[in-house]
Amino acid sequence: MIHYSACPHDCPSTCALEVEKLDDYTIGQVRGAAANSYTAGVVCGKVARYHERVHHPDRLTQPLKARNSKGNSKFEPITWDDALDEVAENFLRAEQAHGPETIWPYYYAGTMGLVMRDGINRLAHVKRYSGMYSTICVTPAWNGFIAGTGRLAGVDPREMAQSDLVIIWGTNAASTQINAITHALKARHERGARIVSVDTYRNATAKQADLFVCVRPGTDGALACALMHLLFRDGHADRDYLAQYTDCPEALEAHLATRTPAWASAITGVPVDVIEQLATMVGTTPRTFFRLGYGFTRQRNGAANMHAALSVAAVAGAWRHQGGGAFSSNHAIYHWDKTLIEGLDALDPGVRVLDQSRIGAVLAGDPQALGDGPPVTALLIQNTNPMSVAPDLNQVEHWIDCQPEFRKAHYLNGFAHATGRFHFSPDWDALTPQGFGPADSMMPSLPDHWPVIEEADTQLPYRLVTAPAHHFLNSTFNQSPTSSRRERSPSAMLHPEDARKLEVADGDEIHLGNERGQVTIQAQLFDGVQRGVVIVEGIWPNYAFADGKGINALTGADPVAPVGGAAFHDNRIWIRPV
Ligand code: SF4
Repeated sequence: MIHYSACPHDCPSTCALEVEKLDDYTIGQVRGAAANSYTAGVVCGKVARYHERVHHPDRLTQPLKARNSKGNSKFEPITWDDALDEVAENFLRAEQAHGPETIWPYYYAGTMGLVMRDGINRLAHVKRYSGMYSTICVTPAWNGFIAGTGRLAGVDPREMAQSDLVIIWGTNAASTQINAITHALKARHERGARIVSVDTYRNATAKQADLFVCVRPGTDGALACALMHLLFRDGHADRDYLAQYTDCPEALEAHLATRTPAWASAITGVPVDVIEQLATMVGTTPRTFFRLGYGFTRQRNGAANMHAALSVAAVAGAWRHQGGGAFSSNHAIYHWDKTLIEGLDALDPGVRVLDQSRIGAVLAGDPQALGDGPPVTALLIQNTNPMSVAPDLNQVEHWIDCQPEFRKAHYLNGFAHATGRFHFSPDWDALTPQGFGPADSMMPSLPDHWPVIEEADTQLPYRLVTAPAHHFLNSTFNQSPTSSRRERSPSAMLHPEDARKLEVADGDEIHLGNERGQVTIQAQLFDGVQRGVVIVEGIWPNYAFADGKGINALTGADPVAPVGGAAFHDNRIWIRPV
């Protein structure tokens, strides 16, 4: 028997699923729903093997209580009644000692769904517990996009199939969002469309591309500026579109005069002829679709990078064409009333809100991270695993297509700023909530390379990117048998020339480190990355590393401009042979 559902995982696709039910307790194959025009019958391998996760012997099926002291990994089963009583009594004790803000419900998207994920906010609001500002994933990307368009919505991603050029920028969609590749490949097969991948290493998406543009981490803004420089230089800027739909095209053109391909090449490491080639492709292909991902925004300059890449679509006038324009997320097209689920009627805006990405500083008692309020003495952690990093849509048998019509999706009735124009010159201070970004940061007033990333230096000469693994989804699936077997073990992808200089051979154990920590990992020689850049894929369990500390021991939790976020791919490190 087949049941219909939706994928509950933290992935932009939200695939419509057909789930085979073998008996009352057992699922079999999971397939993509053919009738859903976005999923189009395709899901990723991880979820196709979902029975391995659902029926995994390590799944929690009852409450467990730590024996003796915390952190000893020894647990014993207790009843639900005892577990609920114990939690409630401890929370009340904490509240009596420090007030309700001492309790912090901390959650994310291990299992999504409006009730399963967001219902915890009802408890927080009614009890006036500390709120959580969710910054761990999308904040720089979303704010960079909104800075240009005024609204977090792009063109219908299914339009990729009607494009002549699909630029997949800063996302390994073949591993993390299979549907983007499905629609891009459809365009290739049916229209002869070309596919470009812009990324920091030759990943699964780059291998499928007609052109792979390998950038140094954190330099995408420079590449975007050079592309726009060339569009203006070569007469490919859509001046009618710019005059009608954007705020300050003359100022942008003047600003870009010095952002030449040679300037960008020195910053990005991309050869000048490749920048020229990509600019010509964009400039001569009206139906160019920019699929802008999250990966390239996980830098200290991530919001500026997103805004710069997004600006290329505006200079080219790609938005006006079917199959053209830009997409990163369509979060703004949904209109859920979450009052009941989240208890928004009980929300007191005066209750403090803590930054999710700063959990370490919060628990360490950093006064600034605590908003000068009481310490956090009780955490309720749900759907996330901060120690290494169900939906209501079950039984759905028809699809509600929320995608706005063409003119609205392409902003041809005006962008979502008061002026109706795309902002090349964003008002970064208007983005909310203020107070979570770094103090005194001066973001670029026009698209630019913003040199605030952790540049390599003589002590820390390598740049580390902690990219997603093909068979994992953040830390989810890292215990599924097939996924962990296919990913084998944690490894650091090093350019062969860097490895030779370090006297490291393929498969050798190496130490990676910086001022934040150190991990031991296997070296994997790989020539699909620029020299000086190291890629570690996947969030493996901490115990998979020799020192018992996972890769996020090396990443920083300092907040990202303009309004917070985590720069997971922006790390300078040293490497030493073991
Ligand atoms: S691509 Fe995989 S993880 Fe993402 S929504 Fe689809 S089935 Fe879920």
